[in-house]
Order: sequence, then C-alpha cells, then structure tokens
Amino acid sequence: MTDHIYAGIDLGGTKILVLIADDNGKVIGDTRIPTEAALGVDGVINRIVEATKDAVQEAGVELPAVRAIGVSAPGPIDTVKGIITDPPNLHGWHNVPLARILQERLDAPAILENDANCQGLAEHEYGAGRGFRHMVFVTASTGIGGGIIIDNELYVGASGAAGEIGHLVVASEGPTCGAGHIGCLEAMASGTAIARDAAALIAQGQLVRTARIAEHNPPLDAADVFRASQEGETEAGALITRAGRYLGTGLASIINAFNPQAIIIGGGLINMGDAIMAPAIEVARDRSFGQSFNDVQIIESELGDRAGALGAIAVARKKVAAGAM
Ligand SMILES: [Zn+2]
Repeated sequence: MTDHIYAGIDLGGTKILVLIADDNGKVIGDTRIPTEAALGVDGVINRIVEATKDAVQEAGVELPAVRAIGVSAPGPIDTVKGIITDPPNLHGWHNVPLARILQERLDAPAILENDANCQGLAEHEYGAGRGFRHMVFVTASTGIGGGIIIDNELYVGASGAAGEIGHLVVASEGPTCGAGHIGCLEAMASGTAIARDAAALIAQGQLVRTARIAEHNPPLDAADVFRASQEGETEAGALITRAGRYLGTGLASIINAFNPQAIIIGGGLINMGDAIMAPAIEVARDRSFGQSFNDVQIIESELGDRAGALGAIAVARKKVAAGAM
C-alpha cells in the first residue's frame, strides 16, 4: 500500500490526460477526456478537476492521498507563479493562475511546467533517455519543442523559459514562426513550415500530386507532402529533405552547445523516417565537433502521448523530494 500518490495532468488543446502514480512512479490510474476548449476557462478547469477525481478513484485511493499535482501545460507559462499566460491553443486563457486554482479545488500543492519540458523529463525518467546524465529532447511536429536535461535535472534557466529548441535560429533570413522570430527552427523545419512552403509551390502550379492528396483530406499538411514524395513527386521530397537539413542544423547547435550523451527525438515528423532523419543526421555530423558527434546517440522517443502527464508526475515528485513542495 502506498502512502502518497502523485497526479500528472496533461492539459492540451484537444485532450486532458490525467495519470496517477504511486511513490515509485508506477501508474495506477488513467483518465483521458476531450478538453472541450470552447467551454472556456471555468468549464475546462471543471473538467480537469473531474478527470483528476476520476483517475484517483480508478487508482483505488482517496483524494487526500494525493501528495502533489504536476501539470503539463502549453506555453507560454510562468512556472514560478504557476500561471498560464497566453496559450495559442486554449482560446480565452489569459494569465490563469492554474496552480493555485487546482491546489484549492483538489487540496494538494500543484506545480506547472511547460509541456515539452515535461515530455523531455519523462523520456529521461521513464523512456528512451533513461541512464543518460546529459540529454536533450526534441519534439518535431506542427511546432518544434524541446527540453534540456543537465546532470539528471531539467534545465529551466533564469525564469523557466529555457529549452525552446524550436526557436534556435538556423537561418539569418527567411519566414517567421508564430512567435515572430525570423529563421528559427520552427519557421524552417516544422510541419507547419513544410505545409507553408508546399502551399506556396502549389499556388505556382507545382506539386500537383501533393495538391491532389490534400484536396481529398484538407487542410494541406506535412503528411500530405510526405505521401506525395513517397509516390514519386520529387519536389515534395525536396521539401522534406530541406526541412531535414534545417533540423540537422539545429541538432548540430545542440551538440556543439551541450555535448549531450543523447538527443531523444519525437513528434509526428519522425514518422517520415530516413526521408527527414538522414539529411538531418548528415548535417548534424558535418557541423558539429567530431568528438561531440561521436559522444551523442540520436534516439527515437518512447513514451508517445503519455509523456506530458508522466513528466508532470516527475516534476511533482522531484519537487517534493527536494522539500520544495
Ligand atoms: Zn521561433
């Protein structure tokens, strides 16, 4: 029988996942519901509270057994104050003190952490990053995020904002990301970037096969471009290769700056396999120090869409173990 349990809540734009873990980190409860973001702040918070109570019940324990709550939330957030500031995928949320609210509603201390940081910590504690003292997590899908582990601890920087791997600058000129940076990794190599470049070529009458695939399954996305390339559309393949080379530029910067033992890489773009990873690794090798490249293993992530909630549990457990919560 366990004395304490921990709740890890992954708050996403489309789903809420709550995992309950015992003192050893073993998952003993699991509830997944749609976010229904259209309900607004109060409605979504009610859903988080209910889902957490359900998961606790499923774990066969009572709410007072919850020692601490970790929340994986989309950035930007203020991790020090526990405030969700302005998430792009949760419309109407602005400076919501979610940690305090959950603490009051669920009667246990709560801590917020950025979702990609949570995923990175989860891979380090429970997934493909186990055993690596220094590792960097990269997730590449419609956006690009990351988390940095130094000496087995999540590195969060001066104000909790470190680890924004997607915003490493890889081109001095070019398009901008959603945050307005010119030429950052997310602007050059994300699924959104691939789809944007494909749309521009389609408007010029190119990428006929990509256009046809997207027409059957709108809106146009990077998976459509990849499928067209697999069906032989060379220009579609060139877009994937180009994104891969930019991704490799970012990986080289990570390798040179951190000399990590591992880069754990996940996200939907990795499903493109060698089409994106072969050019990425080639550029990463060419532009990093030989010894540092030899030191690093580039490994696919293991935890899938449970990583955020698992990482939130790890954040809460570490905080309690440090006597800080
Ligand atoms: Zn950016």
